[in-house]
Amino acid sequence: MEKIKKHIKTYLDYPIDGIKYYDLNPVYKNPKIRKELVNNCIQLIKDIKYDYIALIEARGFLIGSIIADKLKKGIVLCRSKKNRLPGKIFTVKHKLEYGEATMQVQEGSGKVLIFDDVIATGGTGNGAYSVLKKAGYNPVYALYLVELTKLKPKSNIPYKSVIQY
Ligand code: AMP
Repeated sequence: MEKIKKHIKTYLDYPIDGIKYYDLNPVYKNPKIRKELVNNCIQLIKDIKYDYIALIEARGFLIGSIIADKLKKGIVLCRSKKNRLPGKIFTVKHKLEYGEATMQVQEGSGKVLIFDDVIATGGTGNGAYSVLKKAGYNPVYALYLVELTKLKPKSNIPYKSVIQY
């Protein structure tokens, strides 16, 4: 894990004052480290039973797609950009470490594992949980690449994280 941590850069006061931002772009840019991260993710969720991986826009889409492809799982999109999903959609408003956001999901059913890059307060993960429930899914577990333990994240469902700060 220390090897991966070396590729996570921190920025103070980004995107707003008082926030220490964890930038995973150097990990995404490095195929060897990225692969190590993906393998760690797969290891952490190997005993969890679910039908789909629900990916949180936008950074959850990246590694989440690779994991879903490797595990041959379908993908459900949790979109934060409004009006990008056609058909019957469900919406929730939620808080995150540095603001508020909206999340939308298309109607569906089945057990889902929620995936995002970072869990800070847990507001985004819980937003995903609520909107997936509203849409007809059964969110059973969550996985995050990075967990900011000092913020004491709150989660409606059990979760695991690859890297902790
Ligand atoms: P939260 O809802 O507080 O758990 O925040 C998680 C969401 O906001 C994730 O989608 C992250 O991408 C983003 N985020 C929140 N805090 C940070 C941080 N300190 N560094 C990087 N991303 C963050």
